[in-house]
Amino acid sequence: MGPASGICFNRRFPAATQSVPPERTAPARATHEETRMRNRRLPMPPRHAVALLPALLLCGWAHAGEGAGIDVVDTHIDAPTLLQSRWADLGASAPDREFDYPRARAGGLAVAFMSIYTSAEQDRSGTATRIAHAQIDAVEALAARHPDRFALLRSPRDVARLRAGGRVLLPLGMENAAPIGDDLSLLRTFHDRGIRYVTLAHGAANRFADSSYDIEKRWGGLSPLGRRAVVEMNRLGIMVDVSHLSDDAAAQAIELSRAPVIASHSSFRGLTPGFERNIGDELARRVAEGGGVVQVTFGTNFVEPAGAANLQALYRARNDFNQRNARREAEGLPPEDRAAFEAEWRRTHPRVSATIDAVLDHIDYGVKLLGVDHVGIGSDFDGVGGNLPQGLRSVADYPALLDGLRARGYAEADIARIAGGNLLRVWADVEDAAD
Ligand SMILES: [Zn+2]
Repeated sequence: MGPASGICFNRRFPAATQSVPPERTAPARATHEETRMRNRRLPMPPRHAVALLPALLLCGWAHAGEGAGIDVVDTHIDAPTLLQSRWADLGASAPDREFDYPRARAGGLAVAFMSIYTSAEQDRSGTATRIAHAQIDAVEALAARHPDRFALLRSPRDVARLRAGGRVLLPLGMENAAPIGDDLSLLRTFHDRGIRYVTLAHGAANRFADSSYDIEKRWGGLSPLGRRAVVEMNRLGIMVDVSHLSDDAAAQAIELSRAPVIASHSSFRGLTPGFERNIGDELARRVAEGGGVVQVTFGTNFVEPAGAANLQALYRARNDFNQRNARREAEGLPPEDRAAFEAEWRRTHPRVSATIDAVLDHIDYGVKLLGVDHVGIGSDFDGVGGNLPQGLRSVADYPALLDGLRARGYAEADIARIAGGNLLRVWADVEDAAD
């Protein structure tokens, strides 16, 4: 009996050992619609059935990893962007990355949300849609090259079946709704390709929402298009992600969404005062009250106050830089050099360092604020230029984080919830709330 097996008989999930819902024996190629039809035939209320799901999944998969015995769901890994700029075969050892198959196995990573990220610049230049498609192509190619090591994941109900043999499962999250453009029908197109959450904005206000990093609050929260996007995401069963949003945009998305929302990679502002990119206590409470989850992110600049202050200042300075260049362009002057600006910033703002305790502090903070059912992990591996705490530098290192929780007195069942059970529960709730 491994450490997580206790969850199978936990009194929170008393029926888990008595009946096996149909999805556990689903045919391999069940469609989303078929899955939902089966759910309707469950001999219990849907909410109850969904409450069982994490326990069932954890029973089936808790021992498949080679790490600490509890498998991990990580909602934010930026591998696809790097595949575009510097290809590597992530099915084998890729030492210049933070995610590859051997280390995912060593770290007990079971479900790795691949971030389909596009920038504000790509949005402005009209290239975001095709870049998103190309990144998804790259993830599909990775899974096709190693069908024994990876599988795309479309539903939390498929985890146990697809995990067989130790596969690492790859659902997709879209960071920045820019690829949708003005055409909300593309939400269905990308849902069909495997996108299961969308972060409405990234580093700047876009046509959907204001950004935490952007001084200009163009919409005062969500735009009319952004509101329609939330409704459509609910309808399709795509999780609404409030990471990166301005406070007003996040509050409006939480209020509007009829399904639970997530913060896919946000730490807690209570520990990094003034850093809007991390989630504030009041918004975090609203996420939890709606049944959602805050996925703590690992980057040093998100967990250490000095790093957070630097990052906030960097985005302000970039805003100013962009505005200066827009003015210069309007006046017919040559633009200032972006690379020189970035190099000067790095020279004058040396990296802040952190230890794994900083991440543990954020998890502790979240659990005290929201309860253990509303905190998870979204590392941002491969997305923060290696600026990560000591001891938490790649997907091989989750066991150290889980050991840190044990050392702080967390029960195994609670660690399993934080490591992934909570996110799978929310994802299943969002699926069930879809039309
Ligand atoms: Zn991000």
